[in-house]
Amino acid sequence: MSAAGIGHDVWEAVIGLEIHVQLNTRTKMFCGCEVTFGEPPNTKVCPICLGHPGVLPVTNEKAVEHATRIALALNCRIAERTIFHRKNYFYPDLPKAYQISQYDLPLGIGGYLDVEMDDGSNLRVGITRVHMEEDAGKLVHAGGASGRIDGADYSLVDFNRGGTPLVEIVSEPDISTPDQARAYLVQLRNLVEQLGVSDVNMEEGSLRCDANVSVRRPGEPLGVKTELKNMNSFRFLHRGLEAEIERQVTALEAGERVVQETVHFDPATGTVSTLRSKEEAHDYRYFPEPDLTPIVLDAAFVDRVRAALPELPAARKERLVSQFDLAPKDAALLAANKPLGDYFEALAAATGDARISVNWVLGDFSAHVNSTGLQVAESPVTVELLAGLLGLVANGTLSGKMAKEVFETMAETGQSAGEIVAEKGLGQISDADELEAIINRIVSANPGPAEEFRQGREKILGFFVGQVMKETRGQANPQLVNELLRKHLSSA
Ligand code: ADP
Ligand code: ZN
Ligand code: MG
Repeated sequence: MSAAGIGHDVWEAVIGLEIHVQLNTRTKMFCGCEVTFGEPPNTKVCPICLGHPGVLPVTNEKAVEHATRIALALNCRIAERTIFHRKNYFYPDLPKAYQISQYDLPLGIGGYLDVEMDDGSNLRVGITRVHMEEDAGKLVHAGGASGRIDGADYSLVDFNRGGTPLVEIVSEPDISTPDQARAYLVQLRNLVEQLGVSDVNMEEGSLRCDANVSVRRPGEPLGVKTELKNMNSFRFLHRGLEAEIERQVTALEAGERVVQETVHFDPATGTVSTLRSKEEAHDYRYFPEPDLTPIVLDAAFVDRVRAALPELPAARKERLVSQFDLAPKDAALLAANKPLGDYFEALAAATGDARISVNWVLGDFSAHVNSTGLQVAESPVTVELLAGLLGLVANGTLSGKMAKEVFETMAETGQSAGEIVAEKGLGQISDADELEAIINRIVSANPGPAEEFRQGREKILGFFVGQVMKETRGQANPQLVNELLRKHLSSA
């Protein structure tokens, strides 16, 4: 719970995250322009999202429905009547010089997300609010980030993204370590992914995270917070928070003050620097958007959206435990990752063995997708192929060790287990006749040890097993070898 050990006092961090989710609607929040990614600049724009005079925005109903899905999944209360506000500021990526956002009457309030930590404990993070807004355009710095490479010292602006529907999810300051912050972000991302309302791709910016952090001695009131903007990967968020907590503690222990401001984390150096002093809400001159009607979300609408929610991670975890008798920790891992959970359920259905399936999915299969960076659906190891491999283990063709070897090849080539076994001559020898012939030969060649076994020296069996394994290059089914050897030695 604490950031102890930096100086002489014990400190604890207080963290609250603001997360922006880009919705995957077909069209923008207030106009009919298509929502796209990677199209030629300024080709998906119209007078409305470019802020021309004399045009009127119209709210995208699908976006409201998606936002309601998110708010409900986060256990929020849905406002019966919600309105938009103008948030006024100038920046070149904002053609109207205001962003249509929500202020004091957001769509959802007072929810929570239960976050499962690695040690199995639960952290309930309060959700202050879930609100709708529109995205800004994108600045492209012609000369790179510094704007000065190759002599280019100007920026270009692409308004394709301008007006894309966003949902902002603001957490209570209930998070107290970088680990917890990362777990919250990961699990929130998984939840939104399962809702099917966003691509939640942090690299492409469809999920963005700002982190607010302060430190205090336990029992003290909240300290002054700073804001880390655009912490756009899980690792980045974790490292940025660690660095900023350390900076604040060091400052406070040196008798300095923490100033409320935006700070920038540089992943190359691992250090944070001050960006600008932060605006206060009143700087934005919020006022109700006069061009849009209030949105009334009646009970029938909310009930309909609630009824259409998919199974959420918490419910899936419970079901996986009861349906497949999984360990809660394994069930939580599968429930948190929809594609992996789906993969597991399909594999368990195909093999009829949940225990073996979960071991492979969370073991070799997860290691393979993690190390290759592939999505579950992109892996050459389809459910059918892995089920085929596990079938060869179940019928004794392959030992567990050989199966791992076959899996590695399968992950590289996408070949079936049967093909790989044939190609490598890997199959485990479970043919009793074939083994008996080998055993016959070995026992005849070793009359001394055979006699010792008959005198009751049980241990000598190991010698014979070793000989058979040597002869078969480790491919004999060990259980069968034991059985046959005993029969043969005692009857000879
Ligand atoms: P602001 O007015 O600066 O936007 P808010 O009160 O709206 O601040 O909170 C923004 C985010 O900062 C929320 O996620 C909230 O939980 C978090 N937060 C608020 N106070 C603190 C604090 N003292 N330390 C850390 N995080 C905080
Ligand atoms: Zn438009
Ligand atoms: Mg705020």
